[in-house]
Amino acid sequence: MSRALLKQIYRQPWEEILEQSVTNARELSLVLDVNEAEVQEVASHYPMRINPYYLNLIRQKGDPFYSQAVPCIQEISDRRGYEDPLGEESLSPVPGLTHKYPDRVLFLVSCRCAMYCRFCNRKRKVGRASMVTRVSIREGISYIRKTPRVRDVLLSGGDPLLLSDRKLFEILSELKSIPHVEIIRIGTRVPCTLPQRITPELVNMLRGFHPLYINTHFNHPDEITAEASLACERLSDAGIPVGCQTVLLKGVNDDTDVMVSLMRKLLSIRVRPYYLFQADLVRGTSHFWTPVKRGLQIITYLRTNFSGLCVPHYAIDLPGGGGKVVL
Ligand SMILES: *Cc1c(COP(=O)(O)O)cnc(C)c1O
Ligand code: SF4
Repeated sequence: MSRALLKQIYRQPWEEILEQSVTNARELSLVLDVNEAEVQEVASHYPMRINPYYLNLIRQKGDPFYSQAVPCIQEISDRRGYEDPLGEESLSPVPGLTHKYPDRVLFLVSCRCAMYCRFCNRKRKVGRASMVTRVSIREGISYIRKTPRVRDVLLSGGDPLLLSDRKLFEILSELKSIPHVEIIRIGTRVPCTLPQRITPELVNMLRGFHPLYINTHFNHPDEITAEASLACERLSDAGIPVGCQTVLLKGVNDDTDVMVSLMRKLLSIRVRPYYLFQADLVRGTSHFWTPVKRGLQIITYLRTNFSGLCVPHYAIDLPGGGGKVVL
């Protein structure tokens, strides 16, 4: 695939763009300089998907897009870390739903993502169809229905916005019909990884479910392209507050200038920095880990020099299900 062809592709409807994702080493080696055997080996453990939009952002080996998207041999050669560092499985009253904090639940409604990020903390799950089923979604909804202390439902995955508009509408309607559910949140990376998904039809549907909040996920200022800006502006224009959860990643954004630029660019597209997460100790992601000291330096710099609007909460999710701790 040539760059010109890639550019054309990403003007198509999102389903078609996604369809043309690179999912194996052979295809990837036709566009990028990669070690085909290594990529193949890693992708057989942890699925790869790089859609043409995100692929087109990659310039060269080791740039922030490349590191987030292209499988790296350290994912399988370094076995440090845990499969489920946050103990999500042990706090699941029904499969796919985590009830860790009294008033809110994390509800997985999709196992697919527009791209499989190499640092993902649900590496053990994403891209595996058995993770979320019709049954698990039905059981999740009925758990929420019979648990009145749940007032905040956070839809996650995988990426909930990879569901069709119709499927998403069904889930949101069910949740909306539960009297004690006061707010619904959607965690999604598509404004960054496949902004074409944020269509006028989608936002029109979503605006029927207020109060609805969206938290998206940008890690580098260069991810804020014209397409990504348009996607975020469409959401804001529909009255949806949009926040950003960034992950601190070695070689991608563990740098004060990069982080300042990211936070300022987010505000310029009306996205409010929400969390900066210390990378979790997930097996297969050790090449992204940074010392906590680095994160503290970055946050202190932001807090000292910029408006509070620019400063996310710097949080660590404690291993073993201890929960989020803000530093
Ligand atoms: C992060 C998280 C939430 C949401 O936490 P907020 O701090 O309210 O954004 C809810 N449930 C689980 C299991 C989580 O990990
Ligand atoms: S979009 Fe989110 S859930 Fe999906 S692979 Fe990336 S970090 Fe993981």
